[in-house]
Amino acid sequence: MKVRVPMMIQDPLTTRVKGMQPTEDFYVTNERYFLDGPISERVAVLDLDPQTGALMRGVPFLPPKPGQRVGSYALQNEQDIYARDFNQVSVFGTVLRTMDLFETADALGRPLVWAFDAPQLLLVPRAGQWANAFYERDSHSIQFFYFPIHPQSNEMIYTSLSRDIVAHETGHAILDGIAPDLYNAITPQSLALHEAIADLTALMMAFDSHNLRETVLQQTGGYITNSTAFSSIAEEFGRALSRESHAAFYLRTLLNRRTLDENDRSVDDYGKPNLVPRDEPHALSEVLSGALYTVMVKIHESLKKREAQRMGTSEYSASGRALGIGAARFKRMIFRALDYLPPGEISFADYGRAIIAADQASHTEPSLEREWICDEFVTRHMVSDRAAMQVETNVAHPALADVDLETLVASDWAAYEFANRNRKLLGIPPAIPFHVRPRLDVTKLYYGSDGTRKIRECILKVLWDQKEPNPLGRRFPAQRQVSAGTTLAIDWETRRIRAHLMSDASETQRADRDAILRRLADEGTLQLERHAQAPGGHELQSAIIAETTGDLMRVRGAARMLHILQEA
Ligand SMILES: [Zn+2]
Repeated sequence: MKVRVPMMIQDPLTTRVKGMQPTEDFYVTNERYFLDGPISERVAVLDLDPQTGALMRGVPFLPPKPGQRVGSYALQNEQDIYARDFNQVSVFGTVLRTMDLFETADALGRPLVWAFDAPQLLLVPRAGQWANAFYERDSHSIQFFYFPIHPQSNEMIYTSLSRDIVAHETGHAILDGIAPDLYNAITPQSLALHEAIADLTALMMAFDSHNLRETVLQQTGGYITNSTAFSSIAEEFGRALSRESHAAFYLRTLLNRRTLDENDRSVDDYGKPNLVPRDEPHALSEVLSGALYTVMVKIHESLKKREAQRMGTSEYSASGRALGIGAARFKRMIFRALDYLPPGEISFADYGRAIIAADQASHTEPSLEREWICDEFVTRHMVSDRAAMQVETNVAHPALADVDLETLVASDWAAYEFANRNRKLLGIPPAIPFHVRPRLDVTKLYYGSDGTRKIRECILKVLWDQKEPNPLGRRFPAQRQVSAGTTLAIDWETRRIRAHLMSDASETQRADRDAILRRLADEGTLQLERHAQAPGGHELQSAIIAETTGDLMRVRGAARMLHILQEA
């Protein structure tokens, strides 16, 4: 069944400033059923009365009329974007469209799963008055808050009406399902990856809108370099918050020169140093998202030239088509890499290698895009040199010659036995227990000069715990547990290893963990389990819990501190 859902193109203020129509339609096709709410198989809107907290009546679902195929939701007035019912439907559509961007054969090529044990992600479009929005695994929800446009004003900014913010939070929920270990990770770059992917998800959702693409390119003369509509996250939100502080107009910009190069003394347009602290996930995330956005700009510029030549038009005339092609190519690289991430603690370098592997496995000839990615990772000191970005793809291995992939996917026991027999290949240390994750059976679409090809892969992930020193002082145990792992992507047809990626075990990452834990302990955010109780006996929401057994500590839920406002 197909259901028509109107949703916001950007946020109300931005569309007004740009003179755009505020909404566009999305046709949902991937859900098996729809109910009043809106509620579907995997997403449910729960609108709460701000005074009483009671659940409000959801928007009625209108199934397709006899002889027709498209259903819809019964809105009082589709033009009234501030009405509760529009808000409910718009947030529902934006979340489902965001999921669609990941699931298509043009990206992951498989259905998403949530990180929690329940079928539906719950959306609360008006959770209360606060300048914030967040995804929370424990409550299976994304909660969107609202706040006055000026301190004395009755006019509200609803975070759930901002396509950027909704896509950003949905990005967190999706990535939590893809890479659940990041939720309990303590490596600053693991936490920062969540932020960067959430921001890039918002970017892909902006590129996805034909209306927005056309309007922005028209206003910028065909460039994506000087437009805040594509390169800033949460524009309206940032504008309202920065009115007094005169800070940047947006929370985070993707167009940046942020770096980990300790010798870099440069500053941005606001006088802020480009060198970011290695232990602050939000600031760190800008290094990665900035690097990737730079690559996106290069892809667009080169396609613009190519398309202009091919079509015999100006580069400006070719800019829209180039952006459509470029964004699709960019999305394939950055999203497919997520399924290749090794489980456990990871670094930006791990993600960089996963991007290269996901592309190189099917496009074996050298590519400019991969060169640009390596350039950015080296220039911004995410890796020490280009060699660190090299990965082997399409490798034959005797262990895979006669393995039954159907059984490997279906049976946990068979997968465990396979991994146990091949500890060396998978890098599992001898004589320690390990876990095997549910295998992924994916079918992705690849594009070549000779047309499209479907590639089916079995993705196997194994995970184990290891100990490392925990130099946080006498209050904390002397050792801590961190997890590491390996991802193996096997070509269903050729039985070759398309990608083989192991988590980054470098000293640098360990030192970064020391730094962030020390800071969190000093701030009182990191608490040993027995202290982490509020006076009423409830667990402190803001605390990050360190569980201990004997002389060993492990940290849970560090990703909970990643609320959108952290950096503002
Ligand atoms: Zn976030």
